[in-house]
Amino acid sequence: ERMSSPNASQEEEVYEKTLRPQLLTQYIGQDKVKKELTIYIQAAKNREEALDHVLLYGPPGLGKTTMAMVIANEMGVNIRTTTGPSIEKPGDLIAILNELEPGDVLFIDEIHRLPRVAEEMLYSAMEDFYVDIMVGQGTTSHPVHFPLPPFTLIGATTRAGMLSAPLRDRFGIISHMEYYEEKDLKEIVLRSSAVFQTEIVTEGATEIARRSRGTPRIANRLLKRIRDFAEVQADGVINKKIADKALTLLQVDQEGLDYIDQKLIKTMIELYGGGPVGLNTLSVNIGEEQATVEDMYEPFLIQKGFLKRTPRGRIATARSYAHFQYPYQTDLE
Ligand code: ADP
Repeated sequence: ERMSSPNASQEEEVYEKTLRPQLLTQYIGQDKVKKELTIYIQAAKNREEALDHVLLYGPPGLGKTTMAMVIANEMGVNIRTTTGPSIEKPGDLIAILNELEPGDVLFIDEIHRLPRVAEEMLYSAMEDFYVDIMVGQGTTSHPVHFPLPPFTLIGATTRAGMLSAPLRDRFGIISHMEYYEEKDLKEIVLRSSAVFQTEIVTEGATEIARRSRGTPRIANRLLKRIRDFAEVQADGVINKKIADKALTLLQVDQEGLDYIDQKLIKTMIELYGGGPVGLNTLSVNIGEEQATVEDMYEPFLIQKGFLKRTPRGRIATARSYAHFQYPYQTDLE
């Protein structure tokens, strides 16, 4: 299993709950998003209205679900959570909408995977708080008007571009979640260590933060594995040396690239002369789905300057060559 997969396993979802901050002031990093939301939340509360609909987009594991829960908490309302793919027919969505009370938050993760019919129902639900549903069959079939209380839809997606324009346009607040800075991840690691009652020194936390792909979920997961390592192989305290040893064992390199990242770049260099190589070819070579490569692996590699997207395909940069110690010829780029 991929150590730094940004997606949570079922077992992980259980302990992740204990690590989730409850309030905006406890939510570490994402300062721009927090600043904006603080104002909108305060304004909605002053007017005693439901908060405008919010779209959170960015790579998995950056705290979108956490932020949705924090928003509901700050607004003092209930949150109902579901996912795009779990809504198969309009009735599934009606059942959830039916449970909403005034001001409540409806969180839809992976909202870009909502079936078309359900998405279309959301248009009127979001805009005017009603849905029209067809009941009966054939000649007796007729629409029934179904009013809803004012509510806040919070949608999460890995790419805002994957949403249809009519849906995207109905979100009043659109927030882009960014990869975390090292100092913020360090704080998250220290906070999680306290929750786990694990002893950690600052340099240990820095090392984990530095090698967590800018992603809190990965930082927490690595922390758990390193804690095991520290308990069995040392005195239980996580310091820089133990962290480094464990991370190396977990195949997370000095730049925080994991096994798949490494394979991806090495494939580009060894098989395709550094590119340009098409996304499809690359995905097949490393045995991952195209969308997974595009949404999870590439954004981090691009941000870190290891990979470039060009109209003709992906290119491994000079930085990649240097990192993996291949000789670099400038005419390749
Ligand atoms: P997403 O919905 O974007 O995939 P989650 O909200 O599920 O990400 O976050 C994954 C885990 O990372 C959470 O369980 C939480 O423990 C941790 N986390 C995310 N963002 C933060 C943050 N800003 N501060 C502290 N922990 C965070």
